[in-house]
Amino acid sequence: MTEIGDGQRPLNTGTAHSARVYDYILGGKNHYEADVAAGDAMIEVWPALPVHMRANRAFMLRASRYLARECGIRQFLDIGTGLPTSPNLHEVVQAVEPGARVVYVDNDPIVLNYAQALLASTPQGRTTYVHADMRDPDAILGSPEFRATLDLGEPIALLVIGMLHFIHPSDDDHGLLRRLLDPLPPGSYLAATIGTADFAPQEVGRVAEQYASEGMPMALRTHEEAAAFFAGLDLVDPGLVQVHKWRPDAGDEQVRDEDIAMYGALARKP
Ligand code: SAH
Repeated sequence: MTEIGDGQRPLNTGTAHSARVYDYILGGKNHYEADVAAGDAMIEVWPALPVHMRANRAFMLRASRYLARECGIRQFLDIGTGLPTSPNLHEVVQAVEPGARVVYVDNDPIVLNYAQALLASTPQGRTTYVHADMRDPDAILGSPEFRATLDLGEPIALLVIGMLHFIHPSDDDHGLLRRLLDPLPPGSYLAATIGTADFAPQEVGRVAEQYASEGMPMALRTHEEAAAFFAGLDLVDPGLVQVHKWRPDAGDEQVRDEDIAMYGALARKP
């Protein structure tokens, strides 16, 4: 097996992992042959996949900056962090507020292996990493890292970016989000991106088949289904839109609507 990453304790490198496929398609270096093969097969059935993934990552960065700069949020809980990709969330929010604190969570052992790069906090702030599954909210909220880093007495932004397509309705997707949001105080936020086949149903359907054949079945949602994740929260303008349409920056990559299979929104807990 050829190693394409930097070779730190590779785990299950013979099968594709979503974090490493994403890393490969975003142009990172922490992936292996199986991930390249899976990524290439997906790009073959949907050539816009890299554009779509970059737009998702760009939403994460804009939403984080907005939370730090415009909403005054100082605490962040990022579930489904993925492999370190600079800039990472903490770099964006600590550039605005050096004292910002971030808890990263992912369930992929390979992300755990590379998590050291996520722990490079400013001296004033703090970053920690929790190896846990979103389907077990108690393991996240009850972890020593979460308890030591974030204060439930102050607003917290929960970010669930580019991963809800791995959480199926049969996992009680809404219940999971509720259990994560319930303990957070008023003035907290949810930022989420949600995969959809609304704009390129055939192409995205083929990508979903490809992921499923690699053992990563995917839940795609309509606008109405995606909006349901924000029920009871106050959506920040412009509401739930394709990620590239959410408060774009002047310099953002120009994309076609049909190339973006992700809705995104930011909402405040009243
Ligand atoms: N949020 C990042 C990375 C998205 S890639 C971004 O948007 O740029 C999706 C990540 O979610 C992967 O790292 C994968 O390991 C993680 N993931 C998938 N299912 C998960 C689960 N049930 N619990 C925690 N993390 C999960």
